[in-house]
Amino acid sequence: MHVVKNDIVEVITGNEAGKTGKILTVFPKENRVLVEGINYINRHVRPSQKNPQGGRVQKEAPIAVSNVLVVCTNKNCAKHNRGVRTRVKQEKGKSKMRVCYKCGRAITAGTEG
Ligand SMILES: [Zn+2]
Repeated sequence: MHVVKNDIVEVITGNEAGKTGKILTVFPKENRVLVEGINYINRHVRPSQKNPQGGRVQKEAPIAVSNVLVVCTNKNCAKHNRGVRTRVKQEKGKSKMRVCYKCGRAITAGTEG
């Protein structure tokens, strides 16, 4: 997986191409991610305390992780606020980090876990 929870990602293919959102959940086994505000589906729900009426609610559905790219937040980057490919960089004595393929700056939005 090239993304982690809380990453800001851009959708690169499908109906929602070009939209960005925050990763809410990662499903490593399914290679899918749940992205805030992306891929809404209508779900039928039974009445509950939270939703006494029941009926239809809009809810995000997971999308394939291959359809998203992490957004680079470096203002000087040619791909500022756009999805970018990342590579892994490891400096001596430091833990691995993901950096933007274009500008080389660390992608720090996400947190592991
Ligand atoms: Zn960049």
